[in-house]
Amino acid sequence: MSGTRGEGYTSSMRTLSAVVMLLAGCDTGTVPPREFEGQAALQYAQTQLAFGPRIPGSAGHARMATWLDSLLRARADTLMVQRWTHVSTKGDSLPLVNFLARFKPASTTRLLFLAHWDTRPRSDAPGSRDSTLPVPGANDGASGVAVLLGMADALKRLPPEIGVDLLFVDGEDYGDFSADADVLLGSRYYAAHQAPGATPRFAILFDMVGDKDLQILQEGYSVTGAPDVVDQVWGIAERIGQGAVFKREQGVSLTDDHIPLQQAGIRAIDIIDFTFGGPDNPWHHTPEDTFDKLSAASLQVVGDVGMAVVRLTK
Ligand SMILES: [Zn+2]
Repeated sequence: MSGTRGEGYTSSMRTLSAVVMLLAGCDTGTVPPREFEGQAALQYAQTQLAFGPRIPGSAGHARMATWLDSLLRARADTLMVQRWTHVSTKGDSLPLVNFLARFKPASTTRLLFLAHWDTRPRSDAPGSRDSTLPVPGANDGASGVAVLLGMADALKRLPPEIGVDLLFVDGEDYGDFSADADVLLGSRYYAAHQAPGATPRFAILFDMVGDKDLQILQEGYSVTGAPDVVDQVWGIAERIGQGAVFKREQGVSLTDDHIPLQQAGIRAIDIIDFTFGGPDNPWHHTPEDTFDKLSAASLQVVGDVGMAVVRLTK
């Protein structure tokens, strides 16, 4: 994931999108019961880190794929597995796998949630102590997957009224964002090979959502690409008491897995805690992106918002 400063968006757009939200039939009154388990999500993150780096082609990547496959088969109605080979700009053949865990696959009203499950082969942030080391990928990788897995548990316990798809994309973080080379591989593949059936009403990407000092600003391309979705999701966050974390402030614009989905016509937003050069992300793309930086409470907040979006969408 990489980016630049984005443009603002106006309050008139916000008003317009609120009207659109009402027309779309969003329930505006009730607060659904809390059902996501942040502590269990933190355990899912710990399990991922125990596999070692999940770099495409590595042993840790293969072990994690086996684990995800069996875990998702036990929870979803159907599991769609996409396997393909990507030849990198350096000529390496990467075995890549996307997993799509589907709940109520025949439902025409659908939501899509996604996260990347791979980790970066190089700790090449400017401040990294050793750029040759892989990124452990606690916040950058494991946190988003942990939220999706916690949601899978909740959806298994109480099936959704609408269709829900949980997409685990591979190869987000393999290559060079500045050259647009070998990055966002899984989301690009999925955008070109979407599941059969209805297009999701919108999609939510979770990335870097587990650190202890969680602040979710409104990512720039989400605001420009799907302003009504941003407004609806932030409104739900406020309704369940998480308005202090989900701030109605413009964040940076990031090249992340929501972009290929937007380009394929899916209204996708990025829920991410990230500011360039800010004090809140000192471990991004460094060897210090480790389990001790994660917080069950932060995963809880994001998982609660995700589940509330599911339960409140009609
Ligand atoms: Zn990354």
